[in-house]
Amino acid sequence: MSEKQANSTRLRRVIKMGDLDPAFKREIREIPGVEKINLCFQCGTCTADCPIARFSEIYSPRKIMRMTQLGMKKKLLSSESLWLCAACFTCVDHCPQGVDIAGVVRALRNIAVREGIIPDVFKELTDNILKTGYAYKIPELRKKKRTEKGLPPLPEANLEDVSKLFDVVAVFKAKQEEE
Ligand code: SF4
Ligand code: SF4
Repeated sequence: MSEKQANSTRLRRVIKMGDLDPAFKREIREIPGVEKINLCFQCGTCTADCPIARFSEIYSPRKIMRMTQLGMKKKLLSSESLWLCAACFTCVDHCPQGVDIAGVVRALRNIAVREGIIPDVFKELTDNILKTGYAYKIPELRKKKRTEKGLPPLPEANLEDVSKLFDVVAVFKAKQEEE
């Protein structure tokens, strides 16, 4: 590693007082399932066993747990790694302290959505689901090929129900506020 790279790595590890948000620390600990976050002693088992961390250079559930303990709200909510968790619960099964790591990630994502911090890919998925009931826009060519092959048409979604569901999970509201 060059001296410049080493310096840059050291700089990235600096935690500034301004990054810590005590109100966020209190808020997140009151969310059911997140209360055990303080029991995390940074053993790293979650990261070692995580199938996403195995293939990603930026994803570390251990680091997310530490940043949550410290209340690093802005950095956590703006981090793209927050959206990489596949919710497989491997980490939850293996954590020696019984920390619901996947639950913490879910809570952080919910807060990010509430604050309008949603990655473009999820905005696109949201749009597709609201307009069609499908996560991906089904191309007309695909529909035509189904007909040619004698397959039945794809089921139509009840968009009113879809909209109600989005209302319940707050994504719809956050999206409207953003627009
Ligand atoms: S396995 Fe549990 S205790 Fe260990 S770093 Fe992950 S959350 Fe913390
Ligand atoms: S739930 Fe998320 S953080 Fe935990 S092992 Fe699965 S992908 Fe990794």
